[in-house]
Amino acid sequence: MRVGVLALQGAFVEHMRVVEELGVETVPIRLPHQLERTDAIVIPGGESTTILSLMGTFGLIQPLRHLACVGLPMLGTCAGMICLAKSIASDDMQTLAAIDIVVRRNAFGRQTDSFETEVTIPVLGATPFPGIFIRAPFIEQAGPEVEILAELSGGEAVAAKQGKLIVTAFHPELSRDLRMHRYFLRIAGSNAPHSYDSKAQQPHCEED
Ligand code: GLN
Repeated sequence: MRVGVLALQGAFVEHMRVVEELGVETVPIRLPHQLERTDAIVIPGGESTTILSLMGTFGLIQPLRHLACVGLPMLGTCAGMICLAKSIASDDMQTLAAIDIVVRRNAFGRQTDSFETEVTIPVLGATPFPGIFIRAPFIEQAGPEVEILAELSGGEAVAAKQGKLIVTAFHPELSRDLRMHRYFLRIAGSNAPHSYDSKAQQPHCEED
């Protein structure tokens, strides 16, 4: 298995390190042809406007939309969650529109710009996860296909899953807890071997 980590901006090195620590090969993704022979994708945190604008510049929007649509597993953290969301609250920013959630950017306000808190994530077991939130978004609405994986004590949804798409408002790659990546890799590993040919005609996908 090979995991492509979008390497345009943000915390991609940290994701690559964690995935490799779990024994899985990674490849940095900057251009569409690098998506060939990737079995899963990680979109890191950073600045979503910058990441989306660079995705546009390098021709990655359509291939990534397509791959999400045909079921390639993807993990989006923080800005990565924003990129994968269907839409952004009070903002007409164009995203990959892959997961049926509406997210609010910088949702925790100035006082709590960045904070660390224990997050209970039942699919990862009883031990709380060290949630590192940096100018984080939260999930404001979720469609019927979306499973909310974690909520803070104030009720804010901060992690979700739809099919093989997983999003977190926090940064698991900045903690020493590998469980979120392990969970993602387990889901990704159950995928049929994937082969994406950037030159081939793409089959029709509703979300394209
Ligand atoms: N506030 C950033 C954004 O809106 C996300 C911050 C992050 O990824 N840590 O894109």
